[in-house]
Amino acid sequence: MMPIEIQVRDAGGRTLARFRLADEGEYQIGREQAKVEIPLVDGSVSRRHAAVRLSGGRLFVTDSGSTNGTRLGETALGKHWYEWLAGVPLVCGIFTLVYEPGDFAEEAPAVETDDERTAPVPRAGTADPVPWLESEFPGRLFARDVVPVAEIVASGKLAGETDFLAVGGGIGSFVWVDHLRVWGVPQDRIRVIGVTGSCYEKWKEYCENSQIPGRERIRSNSISTPDNLWGFPGYALRETWREVKGGDIRGFRHILKVFGEPTLAETYTPRADDVYAALDREEARIGWRQMLTFGRAIALRKTDDGRYVLAYKIPADQAEDGDRDRYFLARVVQLATGYPTTRYLDDLQSFKRQNRGSNRVVNAYEEHEGIYRALAERGGTVVVRGRGIVASRVLQRLHETRQRNKQIGVLHLMRGPVEAGATFDLARRAVGYDVEMQPFNWPKACWGGEYRRLLEAAAPEKRVELLSAWGGTTTAERADWMAILSAGKREGWYRIYFGEVKKMRLKNDKVVTEIVAKGPFSETLDLVADYVIDCTGLIADVTSSPFLKDLLARYNPPRNKATGSGPDQRLAGIAVTNQFEIAALRNGAGRVYAAGVVTQNGPYAAVDSFLGLQYAALRSTDHLAAARAPGLRRMGPLRSFVQWLKWTAGAKP
Ligand SMILES: Cc1cc2nc3c(=O)[nH]c(=O)nc-3n(C[C@H](O)[C@H](O)[C@H](O)COP(=O)(O)OP(=O)(O)OC[C@H]3O[C@@H](n4cnc5c(N)ncnc54)[C@H](O)[C@@H]3O)c2cc1C
Repeated sequence: MMPIEIQVRDAGGRTLARFRLADEGEYQIGREQAKVEIPLVDGSVSRRHAAVRLSGGRLFVTDSGSTNGTRLGETALGKHWYEWLAGVPLVCGIFTLVYEPGDFAEEAPAVETDDERTAPVPRAGTADPVPWLESEFPGRLFARDVVPVAEIVASGKLAGETDFLAVGGGIGSFVWVDHLRVWGVPQDRIRVIGVTGSCYEKWKEYCENSQIPGRERIRSNSISTPDNLWGFPGYALRETWREVKGGDIRGFRHILKVFGEPTLAETYTPRADDVYAALDREEARIGWRQMLTFGRAIALRKTDDGRYVLAYKIPADQAEDGDRDRYFLARVVQLATGYPTTRYLDDLQSFKRQNRGSNRVVNAYEEHEGIYRALAERGGTVVVRGRGIVASRVLQRLHETRQRNKQIGVLHLMRGPVEAGATFDLARRAVGYDVEMQPFNWPKACWGGEYRRLLEAAAPEKRVELLSAWGGTTTAERADWMAILSAGKREGWYRIYFGEVKKMRLKNDKVVTEIVAKGPFSETLDLVADYVIDCTGLIADVTSSPFLKDLLARYNPPRNKATGSGPDQRLAGIAVTNQFEIAALRNGAGRVYAAGVVTQNGPYAAVDSFLGLQYAALRSTDHLAAARAPGLRRMGPLRSFVQWLKWTAGAKP
C-alpha cells in the first residue's frame, strides 16, 4: 500500500510539518508529543484531540473528545468515524491538516519538520511484524519460537501475569470469560486485552454502518443470548415480560412468534438495543471492566516455562512515560480478534486505487451516512451489490430515504438469477426475489443438531464439501422487506440486473459499473449511478491481521481449507480441534484456544454467530475443566442451576 502524507499548515497556509502514514492502523493527533503519532503542540489542541485511521488505503477521522472540537471541511466531528477525503481540510485548534490525491509518494521522507512546534517522531499505528526490525517492539526478543521468561522480566516491560488471557475483547472474548467466571475462575485470574471498553462496541459499529440502528431487530433468534449462557430466558420472553408488565398485552406476540416460527410466523429476532443492554448488565455482573486492559496485541510467543507471552501496545494517553510497549504472561490464551479489516472485492479495490479520495463507492460495513444524506437532499441513483441480509437492510434504508426525496433510483446488481435454492439430502432452501431465503446465515441444524455432528466428524476435504453445500448468501424472509421490493418494482424505482462486473470507472462525476449481463446474449451493460454500495459481505482473511500474520509466520499452524468464490468466498481460518484449541501452539500445560472467524471453515459452521461463539467457549471451558486448569471445576446440573439462579438475581458468579 502506498503511504499517505499529511501536511500540517498554520493559519497563513504555511506548511509546518509533514507526517507520512505508511501502515494501516490508528494514529493519534494531540498536544502531548511523547504520546501521540501526530503531535500538534499548541494550547488550542487537546492532549488527545483526534484520531486518524488508515484502512484499505482510505483515511477516516474521529474527534477524541477534544475541548475545541475538530472540523472536517464544514462538518464538526462527533465520536463516529468520518471518511477524510483528499483535499478536505481537517482543522484541529490553530492547525489545518490536509492531504492531496498525489500525496502517496513512496519516496517521501518519514517526516520533515519546518517548525519546532511540531515534534518529529511519528510512529506507525500497526507495525508489520515480519520481519522484526531491531528497533521495533518487541524486536529480537520475539525472533524465536520460545522466549525465556527471565528475558521478559529483565526487559522491565512486564505488566503482569495471569492464568487466562483473552485477546480481542469483543463478543467472542466476552462469552469465553463469562464461561470461565461461571465455571469458578476468580476475576483476578483473568485478563482481557482489547481496544474497546465494551465487548459489543465493534459489533455495534458494524451494525450501525450496515443499517441496523439500536431500535432495529438483528438477525439471530431469541435464544442466541451472549449475555446468558443458558439461553433462558430468551430475548422473546424478556421482551414479552417487559411489555406485559408495562400494561401492553400485545407483548405476548413475541413469545407466540417463537412457537410459530418459521412456518406460521416470521422468526423472532431481538432489538439491537436490548442485546446491548443485556450485555451491559452481564459485563457488570462478571466484572468485565475490571479484567480489561486497553491494548493492541502485537505478537504472541511460547515461553520456556510452558506459558505464553503477549507483546502489546497500550494507548498513548495511558503511557505515563511515553513507553507504550508491554508484555503479559499467561497459562491459557484465547484468540478472538474478529474480522481484521473490511476487504473489498477485486474490482472495487481497483476502482478505489484509481480514484483515491472518492466516496462514491463504499462497503456497507463502513460508515456511509453521507450517501443517504446526499440522496435525501439531491436525489440520485444507487447501485446496490449483493443479496444477503445487509443488502436487504440497505434497500430498506434507501426506501426510507425515498420517503424524503422521490428522485432516488436503485439498481440492484446480483451475479445471476437464483432458479432453485441449495439442496442437501431432502432439504431445499426456498427462493424469493432471486434470493435464497433462510432465517439465519446457516441452516439451523449447524448450531446444535445433526449438521454439527456431521461437520465435527468430517475430514478436511469432506468439510469443504459440507460447508459449500450449507453455506451461501441468504436473507431472512420478511414481509416488510418483500413489500418494499414489490412496491419498488411496481413504481419503477427499483430494478434488478444480473451480471458479472468487468470494470468500474468514474466518468462525468458518475460511477459507471460495466457488467456482462447474464442472459442469452451475454451483452455488456453500463450501470450509471451516483453511488455504489457494496453489500457482498465481509471477508475474513486472517493474514490481514498483523498479529495473526505474525503468529502464522512463526509457528505455521495448520489452516482450514477455503471455500466458495466471489462474494461467497470464505477464506481459510486457523485449524482448531473440536474443543477449539490450536493444537500446534500447545506448550506443556499451556494452551491456546480460538473462536469466531479466526477459526473459519473448521469443525463448526456458524463460528461467527453468538451461539457459535458460546459453543466454542463451552467446548474450550469443558476441555480446560477436564484438564484441571486452575480455578475451573466440572459443571454438573446442580452447580449450573445455582449459577443460573445467580444470573437471574444479577449476583456475581
Ligand atoms: C453487521 C453484523 C451483524 C451481526 N449480527 C449478528 C446477529 O444478529 N447474531 C449473531 O449471532 N451474530 C451476528 N453477527 C456475527 C458475530 O456474532 C459478530 O460479528 C460478533 O461481534 C463476533 O465476535 P468476535 O469476538 O469474533 O469479533 P468482534 O466482536 O468484532 O471482536 C473482536 C475485537 O478484537 C479486536 N482486535 C482485533 N485485533 C486486535 C489486536 N491485535 N489487539 C487487540 N484487539 C484486537 C477488534 O478491534 C474487536 O474489538 C453479526 C456480524 C455483523 C458484522
